[in-house]
Amino acid sequence: MWRFLENGTREFLAGKTDWAVAAREAQECDAFREDVEEEIVADEPRSCYNCRYRRWTACSFMCMHPVERMGS
Ligand code: SF4
Repeated sequence: MWRFLENGTREFLAGKTDWAVAAREAQECDAFREDVEEEIVADEPRSCYNCRYRRWTACSFMCMHPVERMGS
């Protein structure tokens, strides 16, 4: 679901309209923080699409919250 980059960020591979997956990912993420009201796009309140750590790209978004990966 994610492409991990060397700088510690990650790209969401499901695009901008996979509402169910974006909600599921946020449910499982302790770092979720709701964005300001004008940035809310998903009906599901807890969604990566509504998170202050997502930065939209042409095809999807980047999660800017640092990733702690097992074994690194
Ligand atoms: S955008 Fe990143 S920090 Fe926010 S809920 Fe999704 S995975 Fe977690």
